[in-house]
Amino acid sequence: MSLKTLVNSALKSVSAPPVQESFDPIAFDQAVMTTYSRFPLAIDRGQGCHLWDTEGREYLDFVAGIATCTLGHSHPVMVSVVSQQIQKLHHVSNLYYIPEQGALAQWLVDHSCADKVFFCNSGAEANEGAIKLARKYAHTRRGIQTPVIITAQASFHGRTLATVTATGQAKYQKHFDPLMPGFHYVPYNDLAALEGAIATLDADQPQVAAILLEPLQGEGGVRPGDRTYFQAVRQICSDRNILLILDEVQVGVGRTGQYWGYEHLGIEPDVFTLAKGLGGGIPIGATLCKDAYAVFEPGDHASTFGGNPFACGVALAVCQTLESAGLVANARHQGERLRAGLQQICDRYPQAFAEVRGWGLINGLVINPEMAFTSIDVVKAAMTAGLLIVPAGPQVVRLVPPLILSATEVQQGMEKLDCAIATLLP
Ligand SMILES: *Cc1c(COP(=O)(O)O)cnc(C)c1O
Repeated sequence: MSLKTLVNSALKSVSAPPVQESFDPIAFDQAVMTTYSRFPLAIDRGQGCHLWDTEGREYLDFVAGIATCTLGHSHPVMVSVVSQQIQKLHHVSNLYYIPEQGALAQWLVDHSCADKVFFCNSGAEANEGAIKLARKYAHTRRGIQTPVIITAQASFHGRTLATVTATGQAKYQKHFDPLMPGFHYVPYNDLAALEGAIATLDADQPQVAAILLEPLQGEGGVRPGDRTYFQAVRQICSDRNILLILDEVQVGVGRTGQYWGYEHLGIEPDVFTLAKGLGGGIPIGATLCKDAYAVFEPGDHASTFGGNPFACGVALAVCQTLESAGLVANARHQGERLRAGLQQICDRYPQAFAEVRGWGLINGLVINPEMAFTSIDVVKAAMTAGLLIVPAGPQVVRLVPPLILSATEVQQGMEKLDCAIATLLP
């Protein structure tokens, strides 16, 4: 589609519904940088947990914009808050007080262990904020000259230089060196390895400023954190004045059937980060911390768009809807149904699948390593069967539907997935 056609159709849509035009993937790939290998599918519209492509084919959406569309598509609350907020005010900068930002911060503080919030626009930025906060705390409160942040292998924390360095996966770092100094990796859920790393790093003088972990590793293969491990990590951090930072970008805001991933682990972090589900699909990120760690002063950190009235107004409505419609409990209940359905598939094809794992509505179906197909093959077969799912590495199929998911939709999703898998097996 040419720019002119795009502009014309946007203008037309001001007074009339958008005209559906045939989509040209070749023109798309000529103009857009090839940072993604896209599936041959262009989505035109959505409603609830359902999407339609430009050819009019319907899909059940168990991707939800990669765990972002908390309320699904075209939810009445989203439609009304987006249109009301844009008519009232959308952006003014942080030179002034923004009431919507204050109200969202208050909601988050009231519903979590945090005392203070900084707003930005994405998960990577939220983690950048947490990394800067931890470094400043180490410098100013502990006199550490070269702070080190320990992160986990197979983790994912974002694509900016600091967060891609924090990410413990070489495939995301290749060709982007020199990477950021001050990071050290340990295996996830392995207490002895963590204790060993701290002993080595702090041998001469204290260096370890923070431990940054996902409560459940999302991109790394839907791997839940171990309660005993996280409780021991919490104790180590408290004993040594090391900041415990949890990356809740994918699991926070109700997805796991609890408001926050850390509730599954029976601990509270010092700092945690949010993004994906917070705005229901509208870009927003947040770095949250307890009062003791709120060391930023005016001029230390900022974001032009961060905390704007539009994103905050929408996110507040998403959070309030989550609460008033009981969607966290729904995520818990439908998640149990979904895992039971996945377990049945696992039992039906024991040679193909190793296990089902997850919390609430973030779940993974693990493919046996000796199988001839990968997660991408399952995703493609499911797409043909009318179900959208997403890989989490080559061996894990990830299901992260909207939190408004119904029991009927769980059932339909499992039927489609079963049909898809049958096409892959001899
Ligand atoms: C998606 C994700 C990020 C990065 O978020 P962006 O908004 O893409 O920058 C960081 N951490 C985790 C755990 C994520 O799942």
